[in-house]
Amino acid sequence: MSALFSDPPIGFTASPLDRASNLRREEGWLTARRAAPESRFLPLTDLKAQIRLGGQRPDIGWISAAEAAPLLPGHDAVFLGLENDVAHFAFDAGQAAPATGCKFIDVRTIAPQLPDGHAAILAQARSLVDWHARHGFCAVCGHKTELREAGYARYCSNGACKAQHFPRTDPVVIMLVEREGRLLLGRQERFPAGMFSALAGFMEPGETIEEAVRREVLEEASIVVGSVRYMASQPWPFPSSLMIGCVGEALSEAVKIDPKELESARWFERHEVEAMLRDSEDMAAPLRIGAPIALAHQLAKRWLAGA
Ligand SMILES: [Zn+2]
Repeated sequence: MSALFSDPPIGFTASPLDRASNLRREEGWLTARRAAPESRFLPLTDLKAQIRLGGQRPDIGWISAAEAAPLLPGHDAVFLGLENDVAHFAFDAGQAAPATGCKFIDVRTIAPQLPDGHAAILAQARSLVDWHARHGFCAVCGHKTELREAGYARYCSNGACKAQHFPRTDPVVIMLVEREGRLLLGRQERFPAGMFSALAGFMEPGETIEEAVRREVLEEASIVVGSVRYMASQPWPFPSSLMIGCVGEALSEAVKIDPKELESARWFERHEVEAMLRDSEDMAAPLRIGAPIALAHQLAKRWLAGA
């Protein structure tokens, strides 16, 4: 068990930033920090993040307030948080060219290469910037909305409406299903050859996590699940999911897939799961599980370790 916790954090988790949510309504403080020379800004274009290349490893391509200023008109910066009291922001830079030594790169692609915890900053930035881009108009009355609370709300500009809108997080259950030391894994048609993963699905309004796990497994594989326990979670910013990783205990054995959801699903022995984890990044392996950045990989690893 102890070895697990010295491993790198789960992808898109362990941000070094203090979100400092208590400061988001302090307009004077925010204005000062938006202009402060030490503040750092992350530009995104088409939701790709600016990444600085050429160092020992790629890292977030932060720029200063002065460098961000010409790119900001018409774009609002959202406050990400503080590190050593330095404010960090992100914004949609439209079609701006990258800064010298930098490139705009897809967040999923670059995440595994960044220093520990830095992908979590990209997850926060990508989800927020995407939400603002999609919510320029009030869902209640159709009038324009305005960014507020440092980027964690949009208020309707129509005085007769004044609706407040908040960034969404979409919960997804993702579950290992176990029975007598084996795991149920499935694959979708779109997966690369040989890849299996944990079953997963969006939670629905009015549903508990346990109910969502049982419903999804029954729908996709016709397996009845009894007890469900939580294991770990992961933000998945494409655009704004929260993966809730669980283990469910199967009460039935015969797998019957829903072909609309899965191409196949079956029980895997423990030694198979070990091999699939080991081969997770070997595209030629006959059987493998998703890459380490995927929560399914981390759940299977923890399950093998007895978690
Ligand atoms: Zn409105």
